[in-house]
Order: sequence, then structure tokens, then C-alpha cells
Amino acid sequence: MKQSELDYFKELLLERKEQIQRNINDAANEIDGLRQSGATDEFDFASISADEELEHSISAKQQQELNEIDQSLKKIESGIYGICDMCEDDIDIERLKVKPHARYCITCREIAEKTIIK
Ligand SMILES: [Zn+2]
Repeated sequence: MKQSELDYFKELLLERKEQIQRNINDAANEIDGLRQSGATDEFDFASISADEELEHSISAKQQQELNEIDQSLKKIESGIYGICDMCEDDIDIERLKVKPHARYCITCREIAEKTIIK
């Protein structure tokens, strides 16, 4: 991959990372706000706990994405960015533009989804 492309993806990854960190903070602040607003009746408590569950599942997913982004940033530093974790082929650049922290090429992603993730 060309240096200019690496710079481009590094920028994308850093932006995405910042955005996720903001999302996680916003969600946490919103829940805190609800708690501090003094929700007293049952309805409010019910909606707060639903929000917490939602927040938990969203942030777990985002936390995982953050880890993947960090991995990708490390790969850029070590010069192995854009290489599939499984078959070591180059990952299609159009795919990286959509998902810059992709670990697998499209073929391996399909295999991984069928075997590892399920
Ligand atoms: Zn592959």
C-alpha cells in the first residue's frame, strides 16, 4: 500500500476512534443525566434500566470496534495494514474505505462468520 493511502486510512481510523469515544461518553452522560434528574415513578425507572441495557450492548460493540481500530493503527505502524489476518492477502481497498478496521478479506470474512463468530 502506498504511503498516501496509509495516511488516508490512518486519518479515517483516528476519526472513527474519536467518534466512538464521543458516543460512549455521550451515552454515559445521558444515563447519568436521567439518574440525576430524579426519576421517581416506576415508568422512569423502567425506561432507565432499558436504556442501561441498550447502552451496555452498544458500548460493548463499540468497545470491540475501538480495539479493532487500535489493532489497525498498530498494523499501520508496523507496515502490515490492509493484509488479511487469515490468508495474508491484501484486503480490497474499497472494502477498507467502508470499514478501515477490517481484519479479513471478503472471502475470509465469510468463512470467519460461519465458523468463529457463530
Ligand atoms: Zn483472507
